[in-house]
Amino acid sequence: MQSYEKETESKLMNNTINLISKTAYLKFEQCKKAFYFYKKHPYLRDKISVDKQLTFKRGHQVGDFAQSLFPGGIDVSKKAKNSTEGLELTKTLIENKTPVIYEATFSFNDALIMVDILCLENGHYTAYEVKSSFKISDIYLKDACLQYYVLKNALPNFDDLFLVTLNQDYIFENEINPKLLFKKRSVKKESEKNLPYFENQLFEAQLVLEQNKIPNISIGKHCFKPYQCDYFNNCWKDTINEDSIFNLPLLDKEKLFEWYNSGILSINQVGEEQDSKEIIYKIKAAYFENKPIVNKEKIASFLSTIELPIIALDMEMWGPAIPKINGTKPFEQLPYLVCFFDGKNHSSVFIDYKSDERKLYADKLIESTSNYKSILVYDGTMEKMVINNLIKLFPELKTDLEAIKNKFKDVFDVFLEFSYYHPLFKTNFSLKTVSNVLLENINYSKITSGLEAMAYFDRFRNEENLVEKEIIKQELIDYCQTDTLATYQLVDFLLSCI
Ligand code: SF4
Repeated sequence: MQSYEKETESKLMNNTINLISKTAYLKFEQCKKAFYFYKKHPYLRDKISVDKQLTFKRGHQVGDFAQSLFPGGIDVSKKAKNSTEGLELTKTLIENKTPVIYEATFSFNDALIMVDILCLENGHYTAYEVKSSFKISDIYLKDACLQYYVLKNALPNFDDLFLVTLNQDYIFENEINPKLLFKKRSVKKESEKNLPYFENQLFEAQLVLEQNKIPNISIGKHCFKPYQCDYFNNCWKDTINEDSIFNLPLLDKEKLFEWYNSGILSINQVGEEQDSKEIIYKIKAAYFENKPIVNKEKIASFLSTIELPIIALDMEMWGPAIPKINGTKPFEQLPYLVCFFDGKNHSSVFIDYKSDERKLYADKLIESTSNYKSILVYDGTMEKMVINNLIKLFPELKTDLEAIKNKFKDVFDVFLEFSYYHPLFKTNFSLKTVSNVLLENINYSKITSGLEAMAYFDRFRNEENLVEKEIIKQELIDYCQTDTLATYQLVDFLLSCI
């Protein structure tokens, strides 16, 4: 399911310090030090962000749903308390020729794996590993090949392992058809070719554990690939100080590590021989003097494009991995909320998708914005995408919807183009960071990100208690309204700069 980490895996691993789980192995592939920390010093791990937790949760939901491809299986993770019990139970289920097993547990050469779905078909076993994505990434392939390696050696009559992903062309109509929602692809070819590789890697991994000392590995690009490492704060705490080069925006990691490895650690050390771009010097000066970059001309030029009357707009989207609305695809972004602020009053349109209400949303969007000449947005990429999708759905509204897009004035551009830059932004130009630095009285609600707002919307839809439902709805509106208020106030702030 979720390749990065599984609740089930950590539950089943709790009595197996020497076994190398799939998660542990993937850490070894990323960095031996991360692997060592995971096995020997798990308490050093960073706190898991809400967004990461939500991504895990979505992975579990898709994985659970994929079981309907092969219904009626026995779930080892629900019956076993730890990996020893999981291995024992799996062995018994295999001996009893159980046709479908979920989370079947196997071990070989110190590697421990749990297979999402294992099926006995014509006397042979086929395994299925489910991913809540459209594409098969390198890390998914590696994860699947490791499982193949273990199964090939631990399970007689094992035939093949398939990666199961969501089908991006699937369109929901009335009821989900799992056979069409998912796509599968065999990893036999890659896995057979890589069997000696895993043999060797697992041997190396055991050596790392036996040496019983933290591997001497410096920070590098590997800290971010394929995911930001779970021990990031532990390794980076002495590097990311106030004048670290890693606070410089607009530079790729390649370049930053080139400098870092040649001994350039602080912004002060960056000279012409490192980078001759004028903006780098301006940023350097901003850090040095602790003063913002203010390009009055460029700010004035942006502001001159704004025509009165103005309104600030922000949308919230819902993109369920498993589609729930007729005519929609997996992960399709459906707008459920739009908030407006005209400098005095807030207003909003909230739709709950009891059915496909996108026409209502489009009509309300047009109606609420028609009297304004400029519409303030902050990074309006998603908003433009939503409007383009509405145009495709309702071509008769094309002129009105195009007009809304044409009125967009994206305040984000001012910051992205360094017309205004404050050293406290560091490398982050999100609305929350920018407004936190520049504005007073902007307080976000409990919701901290668009992904979290999406999870709130799911809760709203599933909540039966009407009072609770109303509370969740209000949280979402508060969150969205805060964005419109901040966007509007940023324009006021920019006006005060020129
Ligand atoms: S932060 Fe980087 S160096 Fe430290 S354990 Fe993670 S990947 Fe390795």
